[in-house]
Amino acid sequence: MKYISTRGQAPALNFEDVLLTGLAADGGLYIPECLPRYTPEEIASWAGLSYAELANKIIAPFVADSIPADDLETIINETYAEFSHAAVAPLNQISSNEWVLELFHGPTLAFKDFALQLLGRLLDYILEKRQERAVIVGATSGDTGSAAIEGCRRCDNVDIFIMHPHNRVSDVQRKQMTTIAGDNIHNLAVEGNFDDCQAMVKESFADQSFLEGKARLVAVNSINWARIMAQVVYYFSSAISLGAPHRSVAFSVPTGNFGDIFAGYIARNMGLPISQLIVATNSNDILHRFMESNNYDKTTLEHTLSPSMDIMVSSNFERLLFDLYGRDGNAIRELMDDFNVTGKLSIDAHRWEFARGLFDSARVDDEQTCETIKQVFAESEYLLDPHTAIGVQAARQCRRDAATPMVILATAHPVKFPEPVIKAGLQAPDLPYHLRDLNEREERMTVVKNDKATVHAYIREHSRAL
Ligand SMILES: *Cc1c(COP(=O)(O)O)cnc(C)c1O
Repeated sequence: MKYISTRGQAPALNFEDVLLTGLAADGGLYIPECLPRYTPEEIASWAGLSYAELANKIIAPFVADSIPADDLETIINETYAEFSHAAVAPLNQISSNEWVLELFHGPTLAFKDFALQLLGRLLDYILEKRQERAVIVGATSGDTGSAAIEGCRRCDNVDIFIMHPHNRVSDVQRKQMTTIAGDNIHNLAVEGNFDDCQAMVKESFADQSFLEGKARLVAVNSINWARIMAQVVYYFSSAISLGAPHRSVAFSVPTGNFGDIFAGYIARNMGLPISQLIVATNSNDILHRFMESNNYDKTTLEHTLSPSMDIMVSSNFERLLFDLYGRDGNAIRELMDDFNVTGKLSIDAHRWEFARGLFDSARVDDEQTCETIKQVFAESEYLLDPHTAIGVQAARQCRRDAATPMVILATAHPVKFPEPVIKAGLQAPDLPYHLRDLNEREERMTVVKNDKATVHAYIREHSRAL
């Protein structure tokens, strides 16, 4: 399979190079040139497969020219064997025809494990084959960092540097990153916010001279196609469990960078009957404003009770724009260049109408988030994390059809975010069994100034490849 850039100027690449590249040379994002599309009969034949078996079916065509089938199978089996629930992504019914898809049974208790545990193993495999080394520089508002570190801790060929905004991630999130020991693991607590961290990652990709040509820089944020690819699988697994392809399913997805929901959009384009895709945002609602009023304008960042969705711009949105513009890379380049200067973007009316047909959306603030946690607990004694609560609230506001199963993606375990749970008047849950000693583990991190030169100097000094 070939991958092309959303800005039309960078060379097409195969999977292996896309995995190792991150942003395309023209500033765009890579996307498959065309997607596999499955008939209802093919989808029906997947009923009864284990999660890993299904993942194999779905992922194989995306990586076929880079990874032989047997090796892929081993990598996928190892990845999902690390999850603490035998179903990997179990569904839990919370009310009439309303289901929570629990994506928090991986090692770091958030959905990002689905992609990053796989990505770490894929990277190590490809780097070993090519006898190359890589440096990962990533930014996290909490969950990506721990999942990436956990996914890469056994990778001999990777040094990983994760920046998080100092004092702006929850204690559990921080400890999950800083208590994983390894010579190749480096936690940088940046005196700034998440966008400052992300901006430094972007600048590092734009000018990689600090690596002196001795290692590749690899992205672990959701601009990396491999992440989206891995996330497509659980849309299929849950929909098939609920009766697809004979029945359509609706999804509500708490989203920030438009990564997770974009995977749902891809699943639908691959033939999965999805009747509704709901974009659920917190007060950082740039995506909701776009869907509601064709107004994708950058505003100031708000710190909310759902910090993993605190973003000003959504890095994967460009992938959707590319399709909305008939895959015209030049048009996207102009739009994005303009957006980078003005911080504003709206698109032709007919294209926007089309986007509105693809997605519904809702914005849920902190107060409604706590209310929803409280309400669902009262209804079913089921404790939601704040991100998932936003998904539930958005589902209830946007639902079109009571007969269609509504699946809400539960993106994190509530233990990661005790504050809103306590605000809702409930008791914070205990750590799951495999993390029960987290608070006793030793933490390792370095506080650094919000300054690119400082960060680059740190990386040069600590990377084994340099
Ligand atoms: C990352 C994250 C999100 C947002 O995911 P996107 O891919 O940016 O849409 C939502 N909830 C949790 C818990 C997360 O960690």
